[in-house]
Amino acid sequence: MMIQILEYAKELLRQTASPTGTGVDLTMGNGHDTLFLSRLYSQGQVYAFDIQQQAVENTRALLEEAGQCQNTKLILDSHSNLDQYVPGPIDGALCNLGYLPGGDKSVTTRRETTRLAIEKTLQRLKPGGILAVAIYPGHEEGALEGEMLQELGRSLCQKEYDVLLHRLINVPHSPYLICFQRRKQKHGGASATTA
Ligand code: SAH
Repeated sequence: MMIQILEYAKELLRQTASPTGTGVDLTMGNGHDTLFLSRLYSQGQVYAFDIQQQAVENTRALLEEAGQCQNTKLILDSHSNLDQYVPGPIDGALCNLGYLPGGDKSVTTRRETTRLAIEKTLQRLKPGGILAVAIYPGHEEGALEGEMLQELGRSLCQKEYDVLLHRLINVPHSPYLICFQRRKQKHGGASATTA
């Protein structure tokens, strides 16, 4: 299940990516999504965040093994500070919430910092750019993060963002995705609302 939702998120990013683009991994974890982004934006730049030293080390090892380090910055800081590290607009971003399976369950993402990170990423998304967030409602903080993100998603102006909910509706507490895409603005005065 987890694999499937992340695979779907990656497919959305693949469809819109250009190799010179900028990618952000808001939660490095073991580094698999960081590696994916560093390959996707092979001639661009990738920024990856985590608050655990172990995550940074695991990710560095994975990138080195794949020979994929040159375009990727690993940042040991909260994703809520991403504006201090990411200078320009973002083409694609992934955020895999929760805690690392097999790791310290007390080190989980939290609503308030998650909200800041998502808002800051949304502000920087290029037209056509995508942010995909994987949510794990099987634990309490994850359920609350999901509610917060759905509320945030519903509040966004439909002329500016498309917000997609990708979820199994017959499996309680299964992980799900919320994907945000910044809409391409229409030029020449045509109204986007009539499309
Ligand atoms: N639940 C997922 C794995 C998520 S890993 C699964 O089952 O596959 C989430 C990562 O986010 C962890 O490595 C954790 O250290 C990191 N994290 C937690 N809070 C963070 C924050 N504020 N900024 C950046 N990373 C954070």
